[in-house]
Amino acid sequence: MIKRSGFTKLKIQQFEDWITTMTLARTVSVIQQHHTQSPDYGLFDGNNHFDLQQRMKNFHMHRNGWRDIGQHFTTFPDGSILTGGSLQRPPACIAGHNTNSICIEHLGNFDLGRDQMTDEHRETIIRMTAHLCSRFSLPVDTQSIVYHHWFDPDTGQRNDGAENHKSCPGTNFFGGNKVQDCMENFLPLVSALLPEYPV
Ligand SMILES: [Zn+2]
Repeated sequence: MIKRSGFTKLKIQQFEDWITTMTLARTVSVIQQHHTQSPDYGLFDGNNHFDLQQRMKNFHMHRNGWRDIGQHFTTFPDGSILTGGSLQRPPACIAGHNTNSICIEHLGNFDLGRDQMTDEHRETIIRMTAHLCSRFSLPVDTQSIVYHHWFDPDTGQRNDGAENHKSCPGTNFFGGNKVQDCMENFLPLVSALLPEYPV
């Protein structure tokens, strides 16, 4: 566990130990999945986790005018996790849909034909999502685990990607960014780690 610039870098096992014991004064009912798009894998050199996180924070604060980095966590191609904004506060990740959310940004561009997710990254994303579901007693379904693509980026209205939308977390994120893709490809991987919360 390494701390720098207000961020903490964790391996997945350290994240699991921490999330199990930490206490939170707000209700969490939604785990948001995002990709950063930019920075993508090409900007990660294996050691610059903190630099990339600080650049995202600067962009969010100075360009977007937010009070902090938008996301609670960023995951990296090597499987490590950096903390972002305080879990005690809502994130700034999906307009109108942040209050009871935890927001995870996965570093990379997971649109079709772009970054090929590493095995370490896949494992961290699956284990992290499973542990968050377990910690907050959330069912493994498409109400508690959501993709940014399913929401109108301006209003926060859920349209499942039918109308105004972003591709986030990517048209090839675990085989696709649609609700059906999530149910067929992503949720079973999460659920497999949580026999008490079947899909
Ligand atoms: Zn997003």
